[in-house]
Amino acid sequence: MPSPHPHARGEIPERHWPKPEGEVGPPQAASLDELRAQAEVCRRCPLWRDATRTVFGEGPRDAGAVFVGEQPGDQEDLAGKPFVGPAGRVFDQILETAGIERDKVYVTNAVKHFKFEPRGKRRIHSKPNAGEIQACRWWMGQELDLIGPDIVVALGATAAQSLLGKAVPVTKMRGRTFEREDGVRVFVTIHPSFILRIRDSADKEAERERFLDDMKAVKKLMA
Ligand code: SF4
Repeated sequence: MPSPHPHARGEIPERHWPKPEGEVGPPQAASLDELRAQAEVCRRCPLWRDATRTVFGEGPRDAGAVFVGEQPGDQEDLAGKPFVGPAGRVFDQILETAGIERDKVYVTNAVKHFKFEPRGKRRIHSKPNAGEIQACRWWMGQELDLIGPDIVVALGATAAQSLLGKAVPVTKMRGRTFEREDGVRVFVTIHPSFILRIRDSADKEAERERFLDDMKAVKKLMA
């Protein structure tokens, strides 16, 4: 059983941010640490209730690339860190092979609380809906403002939808870079968990190679 949410344990003061439509919330943070502290008490959508904690992004403020996944998984929720589960390990290996140093990039998720359905003792991943993705854009937008990376990498459909503001067919669009109206460049690719779900070993290896090619392209886009 996951431990109770920090709010429930009385470790974090109760605060209520207004609904996302109001676009009024805590003041603009001056640092990633300040932003992380604000996000720890976020209630912009209902996902905070069942998750253990907010899993905020990690990495240096001067990162050349920001990688955005979908949401924390079971292990990330417990550890409080993004990309530490099985998909995170695949991601780390491929990043290293592509020559991208993990501690020089920033990794985060489009949605910062773990959404799941309980099944016996297990917590099964559940895809965030459009409202939850929209609510959590509040945080990612500020992460990007503070970091100002050369390139933002959307890992999978949820990240692409959050970053580009519309549903994107990732398998068709992968490997392409989109420039948003605010000048942010977004490179679209799959989420590394997609590789883990492929059963056939030859297909899995082929997909690893495609993802490696994408990461090599991202390295070139980093100044
Ligand atoms: S998922 Fe995002 S918007 Fe929803 S409560 Fe968590 S931090 Fe806030």
